[in-house]
Amino acid sequence: RVPVLQAVDLRKHFPVRGLRSTAVVHAVDDVTIELYRGHVVALVGESGSGKSTIARLLAQLMPATSGRILLHGEDATARGRRAFRAYVRRVQMIFQDPFGSLNPIHTVRYTLTRSIRIHQGRLRGAELEAALEELLTRVQLTPPARYVDKFPHELSGGQRQRVAIARALAADPEVLLADEPISMLDVSIRLGILNLLRDLRDRLHIAILYITHDIASARYFADRTMVMYAGRVVEQGDSEAVTQDPKHPYTQLLISSAPDPDDLDARARGARGEAPSLVRPPAGCRFNPRCPFATDVCRTEVPPLLPVGEGREAACWGYSDRPDRPRVGSVLET
Ligand code: ATP
Ligand code: MG
Repeated sequence: RVPVLQAVDLRKHFPVRGLRSTAVVHAVDDVTIELYRGHVVALVGESGSGKSTIARLLAQLMPATSGRILLHGEDATARGRRAFRAYVRRVQMIFQDPFGSLNPIHTVRYTLTRSIRIHQGRLRGAELEAALEELLTRVQLTPPARYVDKFPHELSGGQRQRVAIARALAADPEVLLADEPISMLDVSIRLGILNLLRDLRDRLHIAILYITHDIASARYFADRTMVMYAGRVVEQGDSEAVTQDPKHPYTQLLISSAPDPDDLDARARGARGEAPSLVRPPAGCRFNPRCPFATDVCRTEVPPLLPVGEGREAACWGYSDRPDRPRVGSVLET
């Protein structure tokens, strides 16, 4: 099975100019992601861990420092306007803020018609009406006639996010990159948006990258979960397994700091301690300064993703067979 979209060893370093010298922010390092048809992958991590940077790289809104992006197994970073437009059709993005992403002076009809015309050609009259109706029905804004002539300010946050999703669907995408699509919405309507995305996964077989702070929502919604810390993936595997029995000490902390695993409102309050500087990230495992189990090897060598069970991996020396490995227990018990 070939992934629809694949990123291999992605890296993004941002140069930031100071008064005297230029520093480099190590925002994303060596991240590999595979997105399959009809499958949801969650990317979970605290603020600044590199989640949005990954989404922007995958959407090709900016170039990676290094690494490859493959669409159906073929290099997709080849430039050229036509190739880029074809890519953008297949890989659509949904943003956190449905207020900011819809133009306040345009009606739903205008916004969707524009996207339909860009991606499906110059539909008119009855054909256009049918396309509008289909999109609004897909995102459960029914009856469509009630919504099609509304302005964004006449809609609720959840309805606006549905319009943004409909706009993405007009491109008939194979991949949706959803960057915190529910975090700005009222708690009571979050589940509805996740269920809509789930419906798109099941019926249209769209591959979804779901970016979130909230590991509880990843467990609810995603097939696979990848946990990021300071620009690197520290643990990945089946969502149920990762959330029920976290192996990496950081994942354990993340789960222990979420009050209730079934509570979708559980915000990721940063786990104890400070996130590290990405200008001078700690040597070795980037989590070592906060890790209760860290030993010398953790402070000097970057741990690779090591197998920790069926289809699961954790980037922690505790799971290697080195004689000097740390004895990793459960953070929850320390
Ligand atoms: P949040 O949960 O707050 O949205 P995130 O996980 O999406 O966080 P990113 O936005 O990807 O994190 O940022 C990762 C790191 O890269 C941060 O340290 C951020 O300050 C830095 N960064 C992002 N964009 C730029 C840029 N254009 N120039 C310099 N640094 C940047
Ligand atoms: Mg972000």
